[in-house]
Amino acid sequence: MVLIVGHFAAYDDVANAVLEKTLNTAGEVGYGFDVLAHRTNIGESMSIVNRLTSGRFAESFPPVCLDAMIGFGYDIHRLAEGESLVLGGVEIPSPHGTVAHSDGDVVLHALVDALLGALALGDIGEHFPDTDPKWKGAPSSLFVQHAVHLVQDSGHVIVNIDVSLVLQSPKILPYKQAMRECIAALTGLPLQRVSVKATTAERLGFAGRLEGVQAWVACEVRER
Ligand SMILES: [Zn+2]
Repeated sequence: MVLIVGHFAAYDDVANAVLEKTLNTAGEVGYGFDVLAHRTNIGESMSIVNRLTSGRFAESFPPVCLDAMIGFGYDIHRLAEGESLVLGGVEIPSPHGTVAHSDGDVVLHALVDALLGALALGDIGEHFPDTDPKWKGAPSSLFVQHAVHLVQDSGHVIVNIDVSLVLQSPKILPYKQAMRECIAALTGLPLQRVSVKATTAERLGFAGRLEGVQAWVACEVRER
């Protein structure tokens, strides 16, 4: 008997080639075999097993989904003189900052929405209503920690995070590394899985007139 314990991803050519060769070899030398697939995804792997085993193990595959789930979040806040500017958990010296109920960190707010969005868990406004005095001036790291716990408690892991920030001034470059480190610490990701990108608005529109700051965040979440 040949027992195959695999972790085969759909469209994973190498894993599928190994799977096919193993099944063929077992057949050529006259072994009967059973296949135990661990978390086998649907797709090409399944069709190989079905073809080489006449489909007799098709039902034995657990219906486990390993699909990546993509989350996407967006946030925008008004800018005003004399307010503090906190982006990605980092306080940035600036004559203007965000107007908000909490600390107005558009990067972390968009990150929360991306994490919630990956698992269809609603949005930041549902979890932390801005009408609730409890969240007045709250550090947005609290919101991220809440979202990270929801992801973990549902048996998922965050794979990576990619941030895009639009701010006319000040220049974000000197603070990008600190923002990456803060997000990595909040989410438990290694630094190389956290990307922070920033651009000006080329003086166009409301962002170019320093009336607002925007952030977009994408993330991937997978089953643990
Ligand atoms: Zn916000």
